[in-house]
Amino acid sequence: MTRIYRTVDTLRQDLHTWKRAGETVGVVPTMGALHEGHLSLVKAAQAACDRVIVTIFVNPKQFNNPDDLAKYPRTEDSDAAKLAPFGVDGIFAPNGDEMYPQGFSTKVSVSGMTDVLCGAHRPGHFDGVATVVTKLFLQTLADQAFFGEKDYQQLQIVTRMAADLNIPTQVVPCPTVREEDGLALSSRNLRLSPAARAASSALYAAMTKLINGLNAGGTWEALHAEASQTILAAGFDDIDYLEMRNAPDLSLQTIPGPLSRLFAAATIDGIRLIDNLPVSPDR
Ligand code: AMP
Repeated sequence: MTRIYRTVDTLRQDLHTWKRAGETVGVVPTMGALHEGHLSLVKAAQAACDRVIVTIFVNPKQFNNPDDLAKYPRTEDSDAAKLAPFGVDGIFAPNGDEMYPQGFSTKVSVSGMTDVLCGAHRPGHFDGVATVVTKLFLQTLADQAFFGEKDYQQLQIVTRMAADLNIPTQVVPCPTVREEDGLALSSRNLRLSPAARAASSALYAAMTKLINGLNAGGTWEALHAEASQTILAAGFDDIDYLEMRNAPDLSLQTIPGPLSRLFAAATIDGIRLIDNLPVSPDR
């Protein structure tokens, strides 16, 4: 049975033993409600590190909407069951007071790239992410941390944060795991009605078509208008953004470059879905 650690002290005792034995530690930070996307990170961590800790913490600081926080699935028993076949070395699942004890006053804030995309639509979200991920890196003393490209902006922000603060945890990107129809796996997909679930694959399809159009020499303006119309016609209520950006610094583009990515966030059935894809066919 995989041990579930509730406190930093108990986790640290075992971490120190492993580190003294010269073993490397990988961490997979999650908010639980685990699916194959999360499990792909666990596999990558186990392939690269001697010891793997999966963290499960629904971080209140990264929710700007209290309703979203209240509705976020909390499924620790089934998460532990999904992790059982992997035999990870521990699950770190602290409660809110362990993570943010009374008097907690520190905020980690990455400037610039947090203002765009999801940052522009979810005020404070990335400060919450950067703060909890800084704590998780230091709590787990991880040599490597595994993050999904599904949340590409988050991946860039935590990479910047670890570099800026000289935290000796290497951030390792892992590819997005998708359903057969292209929809990126997400804990939020479970909340879609069957009709909305069927319609939701239009987001990936429209993004792929837009990218193919760009690579065939089409203009951003025309292809963007067509993709937006397709997404809304499929049944999405709203598009927060559909933008092309240079991957490392997230600067806006209308002419594709070698590191361009297409980023989208759109709401269907009251559920906000995000996705991103590389534009260059070589990536
Ligand atoms: P979450 O529990 O949603 O905060 O996600 C925890 C980690 O799993 C993050 O690094 C996500 O980017 C990653 N993740 C979520 N969905 C996917 C997916 N479909 N494919 C790969 N990684 C994912």
